[in-house]
Amino acid sequence: MLTVFGTIALDTTRTPFHTVERMLGGTATFASISASKYVPTSIVAIVGNDFPASFLEILRRRLDIRGLTISQTEKTFHYDSSFDHDLSKRTTNKTELNVISNYQSTIPDEYVDSEYVYLANNDPVQNMRVLALFSGPKMIICDTMDFWIMNKRDEVMRMINKVDGIIINESEVKLLFKESNIFNCARLLVSKGPAFAVINKAENGSLLFYNNEFYPLPAYPTEIIKDPTGAGDSFGGAFIGFLSQNENVDSKILKNAVLHGNIMGSFAIEEYGVEKIVSINADDIKKRHEKYKEIFSF
Ligand code: AMP
Repeated sequence: MLTVFGTIALDTTRTPFHTVERMLGGTATFASISASKYVPTSIVAIVGNDFPASFLEILRRRLDIRGLTISQTEKTFHYDSSFDHDLSKRTTNKTELNVISNYQSTIPDEYVDSEYVYLANNDPVQNMRVLALFSGPKMIICDTMDFWIMNKRDEVMRMINKVDGIIINESEVKLLFKESNIFNCARLLVSKGPAFAVINKAENGSLLFYNNEFYPLPAYPTEIIKDPTGAGDSFGGAFIGFLSQNENVDSKILKNAVLHGNIMGSFAIEEYGVEKIVSINADDIKKRHEKYKEIFSF
């Protein structure tokens, strides 16, 4: 069983071409919907009393939502960001934690023995607290971002020490270690505890570091980009979803997990919010995987 913990948000996303207000977003949302294309997925998260019933329905139809808390007194986490004209640089306009601030997460009994746990980008203290509720997962993977690195760096480092793998953006890992060389960053991540690290570089692909080897892998060549929000989380969900279909982990399986991460990330950016990833099926994923194999063959 795979359980995803993270944020569910109402996202306002502004690009020079379009603005979408208070749509369904959040790291757990993207990661769990993406993972659900590979494996039955449970979500642990909190929303507020303003969370639309239609959004709840999107989650309920795809996920086990017994771990979802609905606060009657507070509002849903709200994130407002803007992208520049080439849709590569994001500026955070507003982060309203709301329900997230005092969230005392619990998990249903049925989730306790989850073998796979994905700690999507969230308060690292909350991530560690929820992790302690599981009986002993076989594989724990986390993600983090600049907001937490700047506000709770020590806690982020403690979280990294507790996981088997980490997925992180290039700019964020450079910020975390104040180190400009991406290979050094990968080595530093693994020296802190995880068995592997994946550093994502948007359209420049991903760098996997495992067993003292570097594996640079290209991004899927997506020609349509409307909204890059959630690409990293969709990557993470597909990555752990694919891993959970395999008994063991080795470099070949990890490389394939990166390809699936890139495939789901490529779908995520083609529409606003979760619009695209909710609509694709196993066949769409297979087609992109075939295309990847074709690109790789020399
Ligand atoms: P990304 O995959 O990096 O594009 O993640 C985008 C999602 O992260 C958005 O849907 C936001 O709601 C969510 N988000 C933004 N800031 C934070 C934060 N500080 N902690 C957790 N989630 C966040």
